[in-house]
Amino acid sequence: MLIDALFPRRCPVCGDIVMPKGDLICPPCIPRLSFVKGPVCRKCGKEIAFDTQEYCADCARQKRSFEYGAALLNYNETASHSMAAVKYKNKREYLDYYAQEIVRRYGPLLRSMKAEALIPTPIHPKRLKSRGFNQAEILAVKLGRALPLPVCADVLLRSRNTEPQKELRASERLRNLEKAFCVREERRLPGSAILIDDIYTTGATIEACARVLKRAGVKRVYFFAVCIGQGV
Ligand SMILES: [Zn+2]
Ligand SMILES: [Zn+2]
Repeated sequence: MLIDALFPRRCPVCGDIVMPKGDLICPPCIPRLSFVKGPVCRKCGKEIAFDTQEYCADCARQKRSFEYGAALLNYNETASHSMAAVKYKNKREYLDYYAQEIVRRYGPLLRSMKAEALIPTPIHPKRLKSRGFNQAEILAVKLGRALPLPVCADVLLRSRNTEPQKELRASERLRNLEKAFCVREERRLPGSAILIDDIYTTGATIEACARVLKRAGVKRVYFFAVCIGQGV
């Protein structure tokens, strides 16, 4: 295709032109990504040390408003670098590879949630304006097309940008974060939804979104993230 000749596909890991043509990642770069494997936390899908544990430390300590969720990758340095390129260097095409892998590995899980829609975690309108796109929404659209499931990108809004407040306790931080999100009342809400995000760390953002959606009448909320981990 002409488009491939003009804009050859770049690898989400090394950034070089992908060979063989038609692939979405260079085969030798695949092992630099750390795919999540069991045992995982039954709530958030984060890897845990022993399968005798049910939950990770965060999920054991905090009540979760979402049903459960999962992620494709452990948030290692390679994943962090790749996600940063998507956001800050406009490498949106990298999400094609991640969406393809998510559907290939987690399509059955995502379908078994029997959700009515995908909802990308929103970014603040100011950030949307400066970045030009919301990476979670782009991913949700790709996933929605493949699963297939409708994407509701305009029901959940980020109304405030919150700064991390280290001096506050986790529960207070979460209450504050909750105030950063709201639903557009005039939009019809799905009965159940899967939140889509690029990175899940402590789960505070997903939890805040889930609370706001549930309070507005969404019965079941799940999530799927590209990366999961404590951050690097
Ligand atoms: Zn590569
Ligand atoms: Zn967990």
